Amino acid sequence: MSARLIDGKALAQEFRAELRIRVDRLRDAGIAPGLAVVIVGDDAASHVYVRNKSLACREIGMHSEVHALASGTTQAELVSFVRRLNDNPAIHGVLVQMPLPAGLDGRAVIEAIAPEKDVDGFHYQNVGALVAGEPAFYPCTPWGVMKLLEHEGVPLEGAHAVVVGRSTIVGKPMALMLINASATVTVCHSRTRDLAAITRQGDVLVAAVGRPGIIRGDMVKPGAVVIDVGINRLPDGRLAGDVDFESVARVASRLTPVPGGVGPMTIAMLLVNAVRSAERVAGLAAHGETRIA
Ligand code: NDP
Repeated sequence: MSARLIDGKALAQEFRAELRIRVDRLRDAGIAPGLAVVIVGDDAASHVYVRNKSLACREIGMHSEVHALASGTTQAELVSFVRRLNDNPAIHGVLVQMPLPAGLDGRAVIEAIAPEKDVDGFHYQNVGALVAGEPAFYPCTPWGVMKLLEHEGVPLEGAHAVVVGRSTIVGKPMALMLINASATVTVCHSRTRDLAAITRQGDVLVAAVGRPGIIRGDMVKPGAVVIDVGINRLPDGRLAGDVDFESVARVASRLTPVPGGVGPMTIAMLLVNAVRSAERVAGLAAHGETRIA
């Protein structure tokens, strides 16, 4: 078998095209949707992520502002900065880039973001809504995976989905979304005994570990749909996922590449959340009316 590639870049572009139309509609209603991204310190990789998010906003006609705060910013200063953004009517989404420099409490900062502007979906109120299976801002990476699966027409009801990784930003919300879609879900992590015996049961296998090549072909059920969330920088500078592409492509029916799979969908879903937030303020219904959210 040779797996067909799932093109996340193409789907993300489709989403952006639809979002551009929704942003125009908001402008017609007198609202310019705005996203504020706060970054503290000078971690180079984080600055690249923030720049990409900001560029993506502008590309669909959204207002975006980046607030780069010095690494010496205190917890109280950061929290009061976030609260000012909460109170700013021109801002519909607030995002604080993680990780924060040592000494700052990331969880407390997330809880300071107004839940209705928490476009990353990390505030406990949004996490709770996901647990309850209710509409909310959902974390962008696993939600992007759900959109890829939906677009591919992968049947989830009754399917066995195996998620490798249990982080708060990817693995756990991924598992919850799959449960909400009526899949039977198994979550694996670093203490899992005999990982391969479990991954081989997955009709859908999601790898979100951060270890290049940890999922090999002999760990995959023939015909499975494999989603590679991992982004790992190899010593030679290339990017690689958590999936050993060559061997898994011979066994899986469909597979996301790295790059060009889940990554572009993560940013697309951030834009979806920000636009939805503005639509809510404008009183424009998004749910059910458009294809993506
Ligand atoms: P974390 O480091 O927070 O979590 C990794 C998870 O993998 C943990 O639950 C850990 O288990 C588990 N794990 C580690 N080693 C093993 C092992 N040997 N066997 C089984 N499970 C293991 O990472 P993230 O969830 O933040 O990210 C995961 C990957 O996804 C990274 O490569 C990251 O760069 C990428 N990523 C990609 C995004 C995208 O847009 N495509 C967005 C976000 C992340 P334990 O809990 O026991 O420690």
